[in-house]
Amino acid sequence: MTSSQVINPATEELLTTVDLLDVAAVDDAVARAAAAQRKWCRLAPAERAAGLRAFAGVVDAHIDELAALEVANSGHPIAQAEWEAGHVRDVLQFYSATPERLSGKQIPVAGGLDVTFNEPLGVVGVITPWNFPMTIAAWGFAPALAAGNAVVLKPAEWTPLTTIRLGELAIASGLPEGLFQVLPGKGSVVGERFVTHPGVRKVVFTGSTEVGMRVMAGAAAQVKRVTLELGGKSANIVFDDCDLEKAAATAPYGVFDNAGQDCCARSRILVQRNVYDRFMELLEPAVKGVVVGDPTLRDTEMGPLVSRPHWESVVSYVPDGAPVAFRASAPEGPGFWFPPTVLTPQRTDRTVTEEIFGPVVTVLPFEDEADAIALANDTPYGLSGSIWTDNLSRAMRVSRAVESGNLSVNSHSSVRYNTPFGGFKQSGLGRELGPDAPLSFTETKNVFFAVEEL
Ligand code: NAD
Repeated sequence: MTSSQVINPATEELLTTVDLLDVAAVDDAVARAAAAQRKWCRLAPAERAAGLRAFAGVVDAHIDELAALEVANSGHPIAQAEWEAGHVRDVLQFYSATPERLSGKQIPVAGGLDVTFNEPLGVVGVITPWNFPMTIAAWGFAPALAAGNAVVLKPAEWTPLTTIRLGELAIASGLPEGLFQVLPGKGSVVGERFVTHPGVRKVVFTGSTEVGMRVMAGAAAQVKRVTLELGGKSANIVFDDCDLEKAAATAPYGVFDNAGQDCCARSRILVQRNVYDRFMELLEPAVKGVVVGDPTLRDTEMGPLVSRPHWESVVSYVPDGAPVAFRASAPEGPGFWFPPTVLTPQRTDRTVTEEIFGPVVTVLPFEDEADAIALANDTPYGLSGSIWTDNLSRAMRVSRAVESGNLSVNSHSSVRYNTPFGGFKQSGLGRELGPDAPLSFTETKNVFFAVEEL
């Protein structure tokens, strides 16, 4: 068995080593999951609901521990990490209502009774990225379990610790052994095995578009179900009729949260040309005011990047001579630090077209509404975005025209556990969260009961 080192990205200290599973271990885990699932799906709905509520309760009792672990493993600021652990609890609470509400339909037909059942798929494989380890895991495992499935989950190699702990807490809460298993390992081994194993009936993948395409192609061989949550290059569109002060004050947090390692990052700010100069004057102090530093401190707003390889990738987007308008400061010394950075490149520059996944934002001027929409849509991605305007009709027109799964008007909110989340175009396939997510972990079965006439 191989192992990998888990590094604290704020200090570069070794936290621990984690054993990486091989294919045989995955196959054993899938067999255990299948056995657990057969029993789980036969439990009374109220019993499954109670099991998920108990899991939520145990997560709630461990929020401080989970948050501290995420600070150490991922460099997330403590306040953000606490929110993330609380979000896991909330997602479990929300979907604990599912088992007792997952009703089918009774459809009027001639000659009998026709009903539909939402049958669980069986074993679901969830593959998560390193940027939001706990929350993205919960978006997969909570609705999948609620719909009567078992879950095997592979966390990202750099950030496995909170997910491993969630797997332990599931057992501690009384969920059956084997029902929810966390399987650390390489994407090319454990992740690929989820795709090729015939007993894994669906793969929920969150990560890069490149690997997502590979997962989808592999799943095709077995017509395996997939949900894909992939990359983004979202636009923050600022019209001249908006509250410009508020738009500028909030723009840094729409892109630099989690050090820009956020698939929803509004990493392209598009500003109407007649207010561009004023917007930049307002943006500069807002960017320089972002508090970057020790993630264990409560007033820290942005921590380090997750790893050295990722830091090197982000650095490559801002070489000497890059069109830097201004940037904030970041700590020096150990840790993968990169300051919030504002660029003013040409529209065709790779900083405008590629997902950087770091604290780097481009600002481009646009002429009018049509130009703003064309620019916003000029990307293979379509995950998120914001529209700043005080004109209601314009807000309606632009939010319908932007090809993106999650938009917010006069704010940067995008993820709530009770509303659907997912991408257009190459940002993904399917939706997570919201009231309908459990249905994507079921097959609809239609049964007709013939009724003899007297
Ligand atoms: P990644 O694609 O490198 O890895 C994601 C996961 O896939 C990891 O667990 C990895 O081990 C695994 N993996 C790698 N190769 C695999 C293979 N051949 N088969 C199966 N699994 C494999 O992505 P990352 O660098 O961890 O995450 C960053 C990316 O994730 C960004 O592009 C970001 O936009 C995206 N993301 C999207 C969302 C969303 O909801 N749309 C959310 C978070 C992150």
